[in-house]
Amino acid sequence: MPSLLYFDYNSTTPIDPQARAAMLPFLEHSFGNPSNSYFLGRQAAEALEQARSEVAALLGARSSEIIFTSGASESIRTAFHAALEANPKKKHLLSCTTEHQAVLACCHEYERRGYQVTLLPVDAQGMLSLKALEEAITPSTALLSLLWANNETGVIFPVEEIVAIAQRKKVPLHLDAVQAAGKIPINLEALPIDYLSLAGHKIYASKGIGVLYVHRHAFYQPLFAGSQESERRAGTQNMPAILSLGKAAQLAKELLPAAMKREALLRDTLERGLLEKISNLSLHGRKEYRLSNTTNLGIAGIQAAQALLLLDQEGLCCSAASACHGSSRDPSHVLRAMHLTPAEALSSLRFSLGRFTTEEEIERALEIIPRVVKKLRSL
Ligand SMILES: *Cc1c(COP(=O)(O)O)cnc(C)c1O
Repeated sequence: MPSLLYFDYNSTTPIDPQARAAMLPFLEHSFGNPSNSYFLGRQAAEALEQARSEVAALLGARSSEIIFTSGASESIRTAFHAALEANPKKKHLLSCTTEHQAVLACCHEYERRGYQVTLLPVDAQGMLSLKALEEAITPSTALLSLLWANNETGVIFPVEEIVAIAQRKKVPLHLDAVQAAGKIPINLEALPIDYLSLAGHKIYASKGIGVLYVHRHAFYQPLFAGSQESERRAGTQNMPAILSLGKAAQLAKELLPAAMKREALLRDTLERGLLEKISNLSLHGRKEYRLSNTTNLGIAGIQAAQALLLLDQEGLCCSAASACHGSSRDPSHVLRAMHLTPAEALSSLRFSLGRFTTEEEIERALEIIPRVVKKLRSL
């Protein structure tokens, strides 16, 4: 990507060259179906299990707890299904106002089917109240589903405390860890949660592949029953994508400590530079306890939608709200939940950095963004 300035890694990541290389044999001669017992099938099955163990290693999980899906949306939907089928008499769902659309859509779907849904509020920093969380759990709560790290603000929820509450109240817990994976350490061996969802295309693997982690003692029921994935999901596995994910998981684990430091340095340079060059700028989300690659900034006096157009003309990709929002003229539900006015939410931009971001790109962004803001403010 020579002239493109890509600052939208939380929307999707490019495929790492090593992850792409891992896919190629499975797009060529190694085309076997892992369910077949002749050589080609056995070769595929072996590669499949190798990839599964690499994903398990990234999470501190067991291979038997990893189910490959088509993406995080399917994983999330399956976790809801499994947890709710486990306790069909319990009709209460507990989640949060700042969740990703993939979780909110599940909540709305079950609401239509007669479930009572409670979405917990957050404070102006995007943080959840643990006391309010504990108090919202009722004897009929069938599932607690929360984001580990927020895709729009990078705010990280205190997962250890959340796990302790879920255990004390004996409520199944699902975590949307799509943005946490590869950005902060995850060790599920030390964190007894029931379900966890991941997406390949947020950690430098291909699109169309996701992971559902199901704890060995958690209830499970497939969304589509079939023989694959140890009878936990129907459908021949997406082998090229799975192989890219295995490699991506291995790289994510290996590179994590260095990546956290490097991205924090680049992000802080960007943030500091913008704060120096642009007046009336505000940072959204708790400053300390957030992902090291993400910054979400309110820029008074501009329309984010217009800024996106001008930045796009300069080859700079960033985001006004979550990309899944459809029309970017809807104020972000995450920023609204953090007590921002619609106008404030509509003047906010998210920049998210990643593995291939360079210092030189930050310098170019620090020239382009203030110039675009100045132009918009003078209109
Ligand atoms: C991207 C994302 C999802 C959905 O992932 P898909 O691959 O589109 O299914 C869910 N949750 C979070 C936090 C995300 O960032």
